[in-house]
Amino acid sequence: MPQIFALADVNAMYCACESVFDPRLRGRAVVVASNNDGCAVARNQQAKALGVKMGQPIFELKDLMENHGLVVCSSNYALYGDMSFRFMQVLAECAPRVIPYSIDEAFMDLTGINTVVSFEDFGVQVKAKVAQWTGLPICVGISTSPTLSKLANHGAKKYPATKGVVDLTDRDRQRKLLSLVPVSEIWGIGSRISKRLEELGIKNGLQLADADPKWIRKHFSVVVERTVRELNGIPCHDDLLEVGAAKKQILTSKSFGTPVTQLATMLAAVTTHATRAAEKLRGERREAGFLSVFMSTSRYADGERYANQQGLTLPFPTADTREIVRHAVKLARTLWRDGYRYNKAGIMLSDFREPGACQSDFFNPIEDTDRAKGLMSTLDRINSISGKGSVKFGREFHKDRSWQMRRGNLSPAYTTRWADIPVVKC
Ligand SMILES: [Mg+2]
Repeated sequence: MPQIFALADVNAMYCACESVFDPRLRGRAVVVASNNDGCAVARNQQAKALGVKMGQPIFELKDLMENHGLVVCSSNYALYGDMSFRFMQVLAECAPRVIPYSIDEAFMDLTGINTVVSFEDFGVQVKAKVAQWTGLPICVGISTSPTLSKLANHGAKKYPATKGVVDLTDRDRQRKLLSLVPVSEIWGIGSRISKRLEELGIKNGLQLADADPKWIRKHFSVVVERTVRELNGIPCHDDLLEVGAAKKQILTSKSFGTPVTQLATMLAAVTTHATRAAEKLRGERREAGFLSVFMSTSRYADGERYANQQGLTLPFPTADTREIVRHAVKLARTLWRDGYRYNKAGIMLSDFREPGACQSDFFNPIEDTDRAKGLMSTLDRINSISGKGSVKFGREFHKDRSWQMRRGNLSPAYTTRWADIPVVKC
C-alpha cells in the first residue's frame, strides 16, 4: 500500500487568528506587524492584493489604512501559539499520525484511510472540522510524498475551484500540476538553486521531476536529489521535515517512547527539546522573543485525556540555551498535572529578530552578552565536532530516559561524527 501524506496549512495564519476574534476584520485587508509595530510580518490575501509587501515598514501603509480600509494588528504570539495548538489538536482527532511542521502547518499520514473514505472527502471533513472548532481557514493537499502534498496544498490555495482541498494521488494529475509550477515554487528549492536549475534548462516542476537524480546529486546536493525522488512519489520525508522547516518559528516535539508520569522526567524532556530548539535558533542566526510549551496525553490510551499549552514573551529576545531552558521549565511546571500518562511534549520558539536588534532596558539589563554568546558558540562548536549532545545541561541528565525515542539499537554515526569513526588497532 503506498504511503499517503496530507499537508494541512492555515491560510494567512496570523491574520486569520486576528479575524477569528474580531469579526469586523473578516473580508478586509489585514496586516500583522512585527514587535513595536515596525513592519509587516503577515498579510492576508486582500492585503497582498493591495500591494503590501512582506517586511514593509508600517509607516508606509498609512494611505492604505486611511483610504483602503487596511487594518494593522500588533503581533500577538500568545494568541497564535494557542490557536496553533488547537489546530493541531483537531488534526490529531482526524488522522492516525500528525507531524507538526510549523506554527500553521502539519503533515498527516493518511496511508490506507481511503478504504474508509475518499482522500478528497477526508480533506473536506478536516477542513470543515478545523473551521468549526477553531474558526481558522485551512487548505489540504494530499499526495504520495510530503513534497507532493505541499505542491497539492499550493494548488488548493491557488485555484479557488478546488475549494481548498486537492487530492493529488493520481500520477497524471501530479505531472499536470508539476508542469504548471515554476521550479522555484517546489518545496525545498530556494532562490539560489532555482536560478541554477533554470540556467540548466529546468524551469518547471515537471522538468525537475524528470531530471536524473544521480546527475542532480552530482551538480547540486543530496537534498535536491531527494526532492527529485519525492516529486516522483518516493517519500524521503524524515530528512526533508528536518531540512526544509519554515523559519518563522522553530518547533521541536516528539512522542515519548513510553508514557511519562513523573514531573522530573517531563522536565528532562522539555529541557532536551528547549536545548535543541535553541541550537537550531542559533543555527539560523536569530533570537526569539516568544516561547511556548505544550504537553498532552495520548488519545489512544485509556483514562482521562489532558492537553494544554502556554506561552510567554521573553524578557528580552535571546538564543541563549540557559534562558530558554529556564523559561521552558517554568512553563512546563505550570502545565503539569499529576496523575496523567503523558505521551508528548514540545517547544515552539517564535517572534524572531536579528541578534542585537533589541536593546536591553534599564530594568532588565542583558548581562554579559558577549560572554554568553561566546559560551553558546563554543558549546555549538564542541557539539558539532564531537556529536550532538556531547555537552549537555544538567537537567537533561535524568535517570529515567525512557521518554526518549526507542533507539536502543542505534549504530554509531560512523561517517558523520569524528568521535564515532571506527578505529583499527594493529
Ligand atoms: Mg499558512
